[in-house]
Amino acid sequence: MAGIEPQPGIMEIALYEGGKSSVAGVSNVVKLSSNENPFGPSPAAQEAVKRVVHEMHRYPSTDHAELRAAIAEVHGLDAARIICGVGSDEVLQFLCHAYAGEGDEVIHTEHGFAMYKILAHAVGATPIEVAETERVVSVDNILAACNDRTKLVFIANPNNPTGTMIGLAEIERLAENLPPQAILVLDGAYAEYVEGYDGGAQLVESRGNVVMTRTFSKLYGLGGMRVGWGYGPKEIIDVLARIRQPFNLSNVALVAAEAAIRDTAHVEKSREDNSRLRAWLAEALAEHGVPSDASTANFVLARFTSPDEAWACDTYLQSQGIIVRRVTGYKLPAALRITVGDEASCRRVAHCIGLFKAGAR
Ligand SMILES: *Cc1c(COP(=O)(O)O)cnc(C)c1O
Repeated sequence: MAGIEPQPGIMEIALYEGGKSSVAGVSNVVKLSSNENPFGPSPAAQEAVKRVVHEMHRYPSTDHAELRAAIAEVHGLDAARIICGVGSDEVLQFLCHAYAGEGDEVIHTEHGFAMYKILAHAVGATPIEVAETERVVSVDNILAACNDRTKLVFIANPNNPTGTMIGLAEIERLAENLPPQAILVLDGAYAEYVEGYDGGAQLVESRGNVVMTRTFSKLYGLGGMRVGWGYGPKEIIDVLARIRQPFNLSNVALVAAEAAIRDTAHVEKSREDNSRLRAWLAEALAEHGVPSDASTANFVLARFTSPDEAWACDTYLQSQGIIVRRVTGYKLPAALRITVGDEASCRRVAHCIGLFKAGAR
């Protein structure tokens, strides 16, 4: 009807495109397009889900006390400063909802995760894109883009889809020099893949303007369950809690996540396998004339000589039943993002890219 209009910003949103999961006419595909753990979740998480199957008629907990306690215990954090969401995407949404609106600016980087821009538009705020330096987040560029309208600064560390990351000293310099009304959001979706990196948890504890987000979707292999969490100053977490729906997480999702985070052996195995196979894959691709930046996550960003070549390679891989991720929407039209799969998948994708390059030359 004439006169019915959505809120400002909503019509600016370009729908998020997930990684493809099938190719018409091809069976037995290898899906390397969504950064999923090729080994799946912890068996303990699967068992926990079986046990609560009989509880589907019961409402879940509203305060997520058990999951927060498990996260706090495993990571050595304060449970009162943890908030759980439907994926970390929901925690990012809480932040936009609570802290940004019309007239406000939300900073994300050139090749940053697509949801930042979508979530900023959804609340009527203005997303501001900041240039990276050779696919690495630039603290100087972010600081130069800040002003008195800046409310949120989103960086993923490691970043998706580049796989690069910046050091804690740089992150601290960024947090230290932000305008007083701005929050630095450290998206740690891939933090578990970096041995010895706490995702910025220490920084959250030592400052009042940093929030860290984490997810169960990547290393924990629970993307289909939709669980993520945030860690921040108590004042900010209390604000976010006011807009969180009381039953946002199902009892199935809650028990799966709790079992998954306690299975530290599965976490370590996943991290080690990923590091080994990632190094193998990057080297195999380099030998075929396809370079990539040193990745700290569970994927590599394979760079081709042109957008046409990347497109042709993707088309060829699909014909071979291999699905990788085009990243044109991330301003990387000459690249393909390839998730580190199991050993057979890594060999298969490297082999096919080798054949493609041999034929293309
Ligand atoms: C996958 C991903 C997320 C979030 O995923 P959820 O499934 O919503 O937890 C967040 N940030 C980045 C950079 C990601 O790649």
